Amino acid sequence: MKLFICLECQDVVRLIDKKRKCQCGKCWGMYEDEIFATYHGPAVPLGFNNTSLVWAINNQPVSGKGKMFEAFVIPEKCSTFRKNAPKKKGRKKSKTKKPTAQEKKDAKALKLGAMMDEASASAELTKFYSHGKSDE
Ligand SMILES: [Zn+2]
Repeated sequence: MKLFICLECQDVVRLIDKKRKCQCGKCWGMYEDEIFATYHGPAVPLGFNNTSLVWAINNQPVSGKGKMFEAFVIPEKCSTFRKNAPKKKGRKKSKTKKPTAQEKKDAKALKLGAMMDEASASAELTKFYSHGKSDE
């Protein structure tokens, strides 16, 4: 079975066919199909050897030492369990520069201008349609 450990909150999450997040929410993963799985965020992929785990469960000691089973850290390059960084959108963040008084004025004028254009355009349309109707 495939799991991941979040390096931020140390939560270990077993993957299922739906998105599952760790406690802090920075990592998540899921099975894309029966074999192929992806994980996202600052996580390390883990694997449990199913046979070994089932055997350990079936041989659970009543007391004393715990029964060991095989768990492993999955290599960085693994064809069935891949790190898939969240898709970054190609748009740049606009600089958070404060606009000057003149820029504010210009923006306001532009906004007003656009509103005026819209108003006149809709007036034109109204004229056009009412004209067309009156011709019928
Ligand atoms: Zn986390």
